[in-house]
Amino acid sequence: MIIELERGRQSSLDQLHELAARFGNRIERSEGTGVYDTILVIGDIRELAARLDFIRGLPGVQAVWEASAGYNNIARVVRSSDGKALQRERRVVAVKGADGKLRRFGGGQHIFVCGPDSPQTLEQTLATARMARAVGEKFGISDRVMLRGGAFKPRTRPTDWRGLGMKGIAMLDAAREDTGLPYVTEVMDHSLVEQIGEHADMLQIGTRNAQNFDLLEAAGRFGKPVLLKRGFGNEAEEWFYSAEYIANQGNLDIVLCERGVKTLFTKGGYCRNQPDLNACTHARKQTILPVIFDPSHASGDHRIVAENLMAACGHLVDGSITETVHTENFRQEQRCDASQAMVMDAYCRLVEAVLAFEQHVQPHMLAINRHNDAL
Ligand code: PEP
Ligand code: MN
Repeated sequence: MIIELERGRQSSLDQLHELAARFGNRIERSEGTGVYDTILVIGDIRELAARLDFIRGLPGVQAVWEASAGYNNIARVVRSSDGKALQRERRVVAVKGADGKLRRFGGGQHIFVCGPDSPQTLEQTLATARMARAVGEKFGISDRVMLRGGAFKPRTRPTDWRGLGMKGIAMLDAAREDTGLPYVTEVMDHSLVEQIGEHADMLQIGTRNAQNFDLLEAAGRFGKPVLLKRGFGNEAEEWFYSAEYIANQGNLDIVLCERGVKTLFTKGGYCRNQPDLNACTHARKQTILPVIFDPSHASGDHRIVAENLMAACGHLVDGSITETVHTENFRQEQRCDASQAMVMDAYCRLVEAVLAFEQHVQPHMLAINRHNDAL
């Protein structure tokens, strides 16, 4: 819910704060244009919506906007009761590194998340993290690189290796300590959100848990930024509702991630999953959240990861999360998703290609987009 309030109306603002606190909502105030401020109410706003007449009647309230979609917190377009539409600003989600730099998803520049599917040894984790940092330094984009690694692994077969658990988290902690890079790691169960969340800079909710509603709510309550993968069989709307579960708990620091959907050919190789790039554009138009792409799971084979990421850049994604190995030799030791991991030096070339796209092609794509939006 968005409330436009005349600046200086302190008693109305106090009443809105009191109302929000009573029903577990959070308020963000920003200076709007002219004499009005924008009051964004975050969370489950049903109780407030039931008191709309009271809110509208507060002195200085100019307009109240709500989304007609079922995802009120994250919808791009909201409407006032007389039917006027308002297009909201897209949201920036910042993740801070131990180096003090903010990685700003949705800030207009591609954020590069890379690292192993899973930390297996300290040596491998540190080597990958140092190479990632070197990529950032090489291109002068240190504030746009961060680490990934799943210590708790969801596996289709119960007999497959399932990650090192908290020992893996300790390796990621060591990599952050060593390089300053923040990291994102997967959490699979609501009971582990606090334990993992105390360490991680960002929590990943994977494709298999995209509709684990207890987990989504626990991550929302915890409050750290969340990277939400789209369920591999989910419609876009279902993905947005999942994000809304997080936002309903008062947390709008959500990054949406498209990672490919199931196809008829899922036996690995080039066709493990199908990248649904249209969904990236759809999510960017329908929600205020940053949208990134995972070219690794969407490809299944490291030889087509670059192709798919460049295609996603055409859809103006805000970043990517890519699985990497530090050396080709390590591939045979990697216990999960080995075939789709890019070697770090190939990844470095891919980063260069994305930066070239950003500089030379993206302005044209933005112009085409603006033109289409105006039609
Ligand atoms: C992963 O990132 O390693 C992972 C398991 O991703 P997804 O949930 O997209 O399969
Ligand atoms: Mn993986």
